[in-house]
Amino acid sequence: MSIFSRIAEGEIPSYKCAEDERFYAFLDINPVAEGHTLVIPRREVDYIFDLDDEELSALHVFAARVARAVGRAVPCRKVGMAVLGLEVPHAHIHLIPLQGEGDMDFRKEKLHLSDERMRDIAARIAEEFAK
Ligand code: 5GP
Repeated sequence: MSIFSRIAEGEIPSYKCAEDERFYAFLDINPVAEGHTLVIPRREVDYIFDLDDEELSALHVFAARVARAVGRAVPCRKVGMAVLGLEVPHAHIHLIPLQGEGDMDFRKEKLHLSDERMRDIAARIAEEFAK
């Protein structure tokens, strides 16, 4: 089972932002920006473009709902979206609150946010998602 499947199953703790029967969203543990969120299908598939059209579409529709919640919860100009998948072999979409294009630079040093701060951000996103 991938680490992200174990997170979605609740076996490994995460800062949960949103979920439904098929998809799960949680804060990236090494964020490039405050509110950096990952959205995954519960079904374990490594490469996002191996998802069939229906699941790929549904993942994006769910991610858009999460992105709107992120945008309301975290001050930003827009929420950016990226797919890398070079580290974790379980398809996922990165949602990143943007102030400028540098916020999408995955090579820069990651933020070190306290547990309390991460909890607070996730709770605010979850609250907005529920609206
Ligand atoms: P990618 O596979 O898209 O290249 O990168 C995987 C992303 O997942 C990275 O941004 C990394 O910080 C994040 N990540 C890796 N392991 C964990 C984890 O156990 N928990 C959380 N919340 N994020 C993780």
